[in-house]
Amino acid sequence: MIYDTIIIGGGPAGLSAAIYLARQKLKTLILTIDVGGQTALSSEIENYLGFESINGMEFIEKCRKQVEKYQEVEIKEGVVVAKIKKNGFFTVATTEGESFQSKTVLIASGKLPRTLGVKGEAELSKKGVTYCATCDAPLYRNKTTAVIGGGNSALDAILQLSKIAVKVYAINKNPDFKGDEILRQRVKECKNVEIINNAETLEIMGDKKVSGVKIKVNGQEKTINLEGVFIEVGSNPSSGFAETEKKQVE
Ligand SMILES: Cc1cc2nc3c(=O)[nH]c(=O)nc-3n(C[C@H](O)[C@H](O)[C@H](O)COP(=O)(O)OP(=O)(O)OC[C@H]3O[C@@H](n4cnc5c(N)ncnc54)[C@H](O)[C@@H]3O)c2cc1C
Repeated sequence: MIYDTIIIGGGPAGLSAAIYLARQKLKTLILTIDVGGQTALSSEIENYLGFESINGMEFIEKCRKQVEKYQEVEIKEGVVVAKIKKNGFFTVATTEGESFQSKTVLIASGKLPRTLGVKGEAELSKKGVTYCATCDAPLYRNKTTAVIGGGNSALDAILQLSKIAVKVYAINKNPDFKGDEILRQRVKECKNVEIINNAETLEIMGDKKVSGVKIKVNGQEKTINLEGVFIEVGSNPSSGFAETEKKQVE
């Protein structure tokens, strides 16, 4: 079977593209690790016209239903694309050894969280260091936590954690948050959130699990004892497989 288009990624971009392709009666295959992507992690979406406020998972289920209405679209979930090759048609191979052919490929594979690169981060990953508040915040009920970062994702994580954790340190390397004003305001109103601006994270401490974080604020080193560190410092495109494609097309 030769598809008209293979879409890599089942986040909002991939799902939305699928609808446009299906409406042109183009046979489309979505290859994706999950349906929803980052949107599935959003606790509350409030900036999409037509929805005053909607939970990310709920929103994505509506998107999935809309896409599934079109018989031109096939979704293969739980697959990781590893390589794209062009030899007349495109051949898209997955890590599981399957391959699929198409006339065109549309890459909508989003991004992956960036790491801080400090001592203790890699060693304590999943032992108190996490990159997803929506996934892991419930594990920190009545615990002391920190969110490192100052953009919208960090603000979203702080707000989620403030409802669960006993205390949230908001560790921000800049003089103020960079996210949307409405979220900044909400964070500033949280009684259990302590904002530490101009703070450089030096180390995440702990043996078998996180026990603290070492930071430098205005030249002074300081250790905060806590149990969970949520890192929200941006992301990198998750399109490494496309490098292969570029070389092979040339
Ligand atoms: C916690 C959080 C809260 C957010 N809240 C909001 C909000 O309130 N409002 C707003 O406008 N935006 C919000 N965003 C941002 C929004 O979610 C993203 O802008 C949007 O999801 C981007 O869509 P996308 O389809 O481009 O990429 P993604 O959502 O990243 O989707 C990428 C897809 O590609 C798949 N994929 C990646 N690599 C591969 C591979 N090798 N093989 C197969 N599949 C692959 C992934 O599984 C995923 O399904 C939030 C993001 C986060 C993390």
